[in-house]
Amino acid sequence: MSADTWEALFIPLKNDEGELVVLIQQWKEPNKTETKLIKLDSEPTITHGRYPFCMGLMRFVNVSETKKVLRCERCGLRISFPSSVETLGELKEHLLNT
Ligand SMILES: [Zn+2]
Repeated sequence: MSADTWEALFIPLKNDEGELVVLIQQWKEPNKTETKLIKLDSEPTITHGRYPFCMGLMRFVNVSETKKVLRCERCGLRISFPSSVETLGELKEHLLNT
């Protein structure tokens, strides 16, 4: 038996692109505050929305020293953000405020 998968954090996207869903596999329900502190370097599991969006896996791409991209493996959606964004919480703030 394996641990449950939780939808730990939702990050809404603009322009009808759906949302990012952060999935965490563990026994107990993830704590929101702890989830926001997860480093992007650890490559957390993020999917592109829930049905009817494509639900593809989002991969991190290092574009340059100052820029990163989250790219959907399935539909090719690209979300760029500065490399100074280090945690899931910061990513959410950045995407909500730009
Ligand atoms: Zn997608």
